Amino acid sequence: MSTAEVDERRVMLAASLEDVRQRIAAACVAAGRDPAAVRLLAVTKTFPATDVALLTDLGLTAFAENRDQEAGPKAVELAGLRGDAPVHWHMVGRLQRNKARSVVAWADTVQSVDSVRLAEALAKASAAARAEGLRTRPLDVLLQASIDGDPARGGCPLPDLPELADAVAGSGELVLRGVMAVAPLGSDPAKAFAALSDAAVRLREDHPGAVELSAGMSGDLEHAIAHGSTCVRVGTALLGGRRLASP
Ligand SMILES: *Cc1c(COP(=O)(O)O)cnc(C)c1O
Repeated sequence: MSTAEVDERRVMLAASLEDVRQRIAAACVAAGRDPAAVRLLAVTKTFPATDVALLTDLGLTAFAENRDQEAGPKAVELAGLRGDAPVHWHMVGRLQRNKARSVVAWADTVQSVDSVRLAEALAKASAAARAEGLRTRPLDVLLQASIDGDPARGGCPLPDLPELADAVAGSGELVLRGVMAVAPLGSDPAKAFAALSDAAVRLREDHPGAVELSAGMSGDLEHAIAHGSTCVRVGTALLGGRRLASP
């Protein structure tokens, strides 16, 4: 990219970031919530590390990816571009157990833990990475909930969350931070996020540290904030339309 193109991209990203921050602030006012209680997670899948670098310049520190094979190299590239920037990487995509070792090399948080077997694989991989000095911290984890229970789209059905939470908390290596979900396609997002919020409240009775509720994307973040989201995951509204399909 030429300097002029970089400048143009910076201006575009600054403007869309301002828009998104205003949407979050307005939703917080409408819900009577403190805007500081809702974190903005920039979903940078399909966009280059240079965009992530510009977003760090604009003050963002939390980024999410949904494919291990794309995210690992991007995190390395960003470290080369902005080695001093405080950056936290979140994995939000479906994850095969055989990718656990690779994911723990770049992800600070995995938001898409939806089975006991995956939790076990991540715990083992994180412990090994720490023993090898590749990680300094245990792995933060959110349980991905399936609000409608449709197994095809990933996520743990709501009734099975307590068992999964106990497995994560009992692993000795994973730190249970909360719950994540995507509103089911074609559903009423207000209803979906209300059901998610109820499940998150129940989970906190046994796991008081599980305070994060990762809910809301470009199209439905207002509904999610109204139902207690602490983390909105925003791609399109921040970075523009994705040209590549990102499964
Ligand atoms: C892509 C993605 C997002 C962001 O979606 P937008 O509609 O582009 O904001 C959020 N969460 C997950 C799990 C995603 O895969």
